[in-house]
Amino acid sequence: MAIASEHEYMCPHCGHINSISQHALRNKYTEQYANCDKCKTGLELVPADGINEQINLVVSELPQESLQR
Ligand SMILES: [Zn+2]
Repeated sequence: MAIASEHEYMCPHCGHINSISQHALRNKYTEQYANCDKCKTGLELVPADGINEQINLVVSELPQESLQR
């Protein structure tokens, strides 16, 4: 019964593969925030409907210097 309940995604900044629990992705089209395990870049994750009822996770990098703009 050991079903993998993690969803993997690649950090757009350094390419490290991170994982997030499927449980955290239940709310589709709701932004989740995480930090890359490797480079600690702030990431915004938006779960969307993909094909075959898979979750298509859209990952984007949060601006690091938003205070300067
Ligand atoms: Zn990274």
